[in-house]
Amino acid sequence: MPLHRSFDYLLPTELCSRAVAVGVRVSVPFGSRVLTGMVLKVKASTEMPEDKVKAVKAVLDSTAIIDDSHLQLLQFTARYYHYPLGETVFTALPKALREGADIDKTSINYLQLTEQGQQQPTLRAKKQQALLKQLAESGKSPTTEIKALGYSKATIDALINKELISQAVEFDSQWREQPLQVASKPRLNSEQAIACTTINQSPGFAAFLLEGVTGSGKTEVYLQCLEEVLQQGKQALVLVPEIGLTPQTVNRFRRRFPNTPIMLWHSALTDNERLQTWRFCQKGSCAIVIGTRSAIFMPFLRLGMIIVDEEHDASFKQQDTLRYHARDLAAYRAQQQNIPLVLGSATPALETLNRALSDKYQLLSLTQRAQTSSDNQFELIDIKGQHLEAGLSHSALAYIKRELARQKQVMVFLNRRGFSPSLICHECGWLSDCSRCSTSATYHKAMRRLVCHHCGEQSAPPMQCPDCGSTQINPVGLGTEQLQEALSEQFPDTPISRIDRDSTRRKGSLEEELAAINRGGARLLVGTQMLAKGHHFADVSLVIILDVDAGLYSCDFRATEHLAQLVTQVAGRAGRSGEPGTVLLQTHFPEHPLLQDLVNNGYQHFARYALQERHETEMPPFSHLALLRAEAHDLSLLLRFLSDLVPAAPVPKIQLLGPIPAPLERVAGKYRYQLHIQGQDRGALHGFLAQLMNYLGSNKLAQKVRWNLDVDPIDM
Ligand code: ADP
Ligand code: ZN
Ligand code: ZN
Repeated sequence: MPLHRSFDYLLPTELCSRAVAVGVRVSVPFGSRVLTGMVLKVKASTEMPEDKVKAVKAVLDSTAIIDDSHLQLLQFTARYYHYPLGETVFTALPKALREGADIDKTSINYLQLTEQGQQQPTLRAKKQQALLKQLAESGKSPTTEIKALGYSKATIDALINKELISQAVEFDSQWREQPLQVASKPRLNSEQAIACTTINQSPGFAAFLLEGVTGSGKTEVYLQCLEEVLQQGKQALVLVPEIGLTPQTVNRFRRRFPNTPIMLWHSALTDNERLQTWRFCQKGSCAIVIGTRSAIFMPFLRLGMIIVDEEHDASFKQQDTLRYHARDLAAYRAQQQNIPLVLGSATPALETLNRALSDKYQLLSLTQRAQTSSDNQFELIDIKGQHLEAGLSHSALAYIKRELARQKQVMVFLNRRGFSPSLICHECGWLSDCSRCSTSATYHKAMRRLVCHHCGEQSAPPMQCPDCGSTQINPVGLGTEQLQEALSEQFPDTPISRIDRDSTRRKGSLEEELAAINRGGARLLVGTQMLAKGHHFADVSLVIILDVDAGLYSCDFRATEHLAQLVTQVAGRAGRSGEPGTVLLQTHFPEHPLLQDLVNNGYQHFARYALQERHETEMPPFSHLALLRAEAHDLSLLLRFLSDLVPAAPVPKIQLLGPIPAPLERVAGKYRYQLHIQGQDRGALHGFLAQLMNYLGSNKLAQKVRWNLDVDPIDM
């Protein structure tokens, strides 16, 4: 369990000559180990008994590695999420710094075209030619990014030998002194222009919700806002969802600002690259950082704007240890730095929309697709009592035939991988449950394995029923693997691309599949979430969503919001090449008011209606939630632990619910229960949580169960 406190150390006289200040790292003894710590306060005395205070072993930095405002951000984060400050600081630092690395020792190698290379001479070696083209598009790029795109050291060395490309170790840190180069750009339409002007004219802190469907030109607005920020010599942070950080996105930024240092921040960087990127930002030699969630903790010399693209995306919320939401911290940071915050989405989170509708944020709408003006056609297919073929109704199959005949592509979306979610014995009803979790193990036919998607346990599918010995064991339910198999029987002449976590496990296989799709021509696309976001498929004219019903009746109050976002995002894959696409939703509940609203009036209308419903039921954002989750092998111990936390007398403005079982009551052999803590206002909630954390610090049971606190949880 993380320690919720800081520790006092003595500074030995021989180290006193070093300027020990807040933000400097030190080596300290801790128990029997030596750890890296950070100075949070310099005090003349301590309340600790003198013989108990240990001495600092070494001072690692000559000056603070983070400044006051950065420390404030981390202090706020620790307070808000009730997470230990020490752990928060170290979560936010690059690993190399946590391990005591010298802050200025690392370097990053870059590749760039030489003057000769810029002429793009024709080469016999295809890979070399491709790399020249790549560098023309991306500009000066870190060598590791280029290698990640599949270019070998041999290819790179060959071009260096031909003096067509060269290596550099520093980006031009003088970017501020040179005139900003801006590549040609489209003229903004009037909605975009209004958005851009409003954002750029904001004098200090202001938050904007840029609400616009996919393709309505949000990214173009970001780019033109960034131009203004760069003109003023300021830096910018662009947060994107994990799945959105593609070479296409990044190239678009680099192409627009060819002499501006733009760096990426994501989980695939090496420790060395992380440290260097972090340091470049801090020194101001990097102008724009495009990064996933944790980039919110990057230090900047002069931050001028924060942009959060697809702000509703769940990947902005960290789901373990420090459970922060990068978008929410972005709001704090923009306020702290007194700069604009731009949140963009086609399907804004209800929290964000509520702030926009109540005038805390400014709402900027882009209502037209920038290049085409086609709107997708939605249709609900009632599957009650219908015969389904591979999960598809007759009318859905007829639609597919029609589109394939027109050489179009059809996307079938099913958020369940594997062949079937379970195996069942036809004689006695035995189900292939996971032995360690309260869920079934998924049947993966190609692998011939039963796999639990929650704990990872695998076993061979039984030849005979373990209970009755019958050999009649059949798959129940539909996963993408089975869907692919069934569709290939229905449409034997049509190529099928399946995109899910199993089919794309091999490195490079996703890129190959996407390339095949983009070559065009009749094709079936089958996939999960992975298919829903970001990718641009020009030839998809029909999208079919198979399983909308689960989201309609769920115990999670956010399920309908997430369903509506998913449907809208998936639907956004259709009709991107000019003509309107068709979106079919198969459901047993075609009359359901949510579906009706979504299909007839779109997400924006649905979201406003859903907000009203949240208001009436006093759910977030009209109240504030925290979840205390706990797990243990021993159920009675677990229940005793949680029950003990519920105060005997009611607490004003606080509602406690629990202990109640988590949606999956048992995972990997452990029971999981939780307390819902709901506060009428943030102050009341945080006051209560602080007391709770204090109490947990001295609670004996708290050391025997695993627990965590999730403030503003996004799944229940
Ligand atoms: P979003 O980020 O909302 O999905 P983009 O900014 O990517 O939208 O725009 C979609 C497409 O339209 C891109 O190819 C972009 O270059 C183009 N585009 C955006 N704004 C304009 C404009 N004002 N004029 C012409 N093309 C535009
Ligand atoms: Zn049986
Ligand atoms: Zn399991």
